[in-house]
Amino acid sequence: MDIKGKNNKINLLEFGAEDLGAVVGGLGMKPYRAAQICRWIYSSGADSFSAMTDISKTDREKLSETAEIRPPELSKRIVSHDRTEKYLFSLQDGEKVESVLIPDEGRLTLCISSQAGCALGCRFCLTGAGGMRRNLLPHEITGQALVAERLAVSGAAPDRQAHEGRRITNIVLMGMGEPLLNTENVVEALRRLISPRMFNISPRRITLSTAGVVPGIKALGDSGLGVNLAVSVNAPNDEIRDSIMPVNRKYPLKALVKALKDYPLAPRRRITVEYVMLGGINDRPEHAAELGRLLRGLKCKINLIPFNEHAGSIFKRPEAASVLTFQERLHSMNYTAFIRESRGADILAACGQLRGLSARKTLTEEKPGV
Ligand code: SAH
Ligand code: SF4
Repeated sequence: MDIKGKNNKINLLEFGAEDLGAVVGGLGMKPYRAAQICRWIYSSGADSFSAMTDISKTDREKLSETAEIRPPELSKRIVSHDRTEKYLFSLQDGEKVESVLIPDEGRLTLCISSQAGCALGCRFCLTGAGGMRRNLLPHEITGQALVAERLAVSGAAPDRQAHEGRRITNIVLMGMGEPLLNTENVVEALRRLISPRMFNISPRRITLSTAGVVPGIKALGDSGLGVNLAVSVNAPNDEIRDSIMPVNRKYPLKALVKALKDYPLAPRRRITVEYVMLGGINDRPEHAAELGRLLRGLKCKINLIPFNEHAGSIFKRPEAASVLTFQERLHSMNYTAFIRESRGADILAACGQLRGLSARKTLTEEKPGV
């Protein structure tokens, strides 16, 4: 395998903690250097070897000549009124992906992308409308967290006081793409996010969201990583779901709910059921009752997400009263149900609004402030 990039340097971010030992050994250094390098990159956010003061000068020089620390390039950063931030990244081949940083009381959550584009074409989703570009590699997934964390820690935000000195506490794989159609790379990325030698984020603070790719749910469960699972159910029956999520024709609700029941949950954990409410489509009280019946016996909590409108969308936001009635109906069936307003709507950072904007020539008309 040729592990060198175009500039003939090895990008150390491409390797997990174990493989890094072999790479460093191959450069003629003691393998324990790998642990030091990992600490510098992932705990201290170092972007060059010169900062790595506990490594001998000779080894640092050798590293600078042969290797690099190259995350996806940040090409745009936009801060929302509600302090949500959107990052547009350019990958080495020019593909674009987006991440969203959501600051909250005591938490700093980063929503990351697993694919450039998405093949599943859900009718209400802007990412889906752009089609599929390609799968992201593990370091392109984790690299989003590396860059976002460097910015948060350095407090280099345009709004400087924003997240000064803060680490990312939670990761959600809810950005662009369907993570369980890129399972191998996503699982490797998750390993690195969890690894105490790398990002060191507890699996309990990581949530992967899927549109319901049944074999992927099984594979994720079998990986034993113990991350939280969210699933975009979005409809109470196959008829409605078929009409808004083509993936349902392949994996209908019965198979999906069974896969969710089989997912190995950590004690006291629940599956998150996401339900995007589309005015006049899936927001009636009888839909709530039907959803309640569908999910019976599943350890879950339900997040109701009023649809975020975007230009050209045929769907409408539901009436506020319908959302409340829907929630009450679920409560009356003993479900935990929250209404979740997406953050960052003013910068197109809200759920389903990510599309790697500058990536596609057909979608160049940017919204004001984007
Ligand atoms: N592909 C995965 C991960 C992306 S998560 C999945 O679909 O689960 C994106 C979430 O945003 C999904 O729950 C999706 O249903 C929701 N979504 C998409 N478009 C939306 C919109 N316009 N308004 C609100 N939520 C939306
Ligand atoms: Fe893809 Fe998820 Fe959007 Fe559907 S909702 S098109 S699966 S990103």
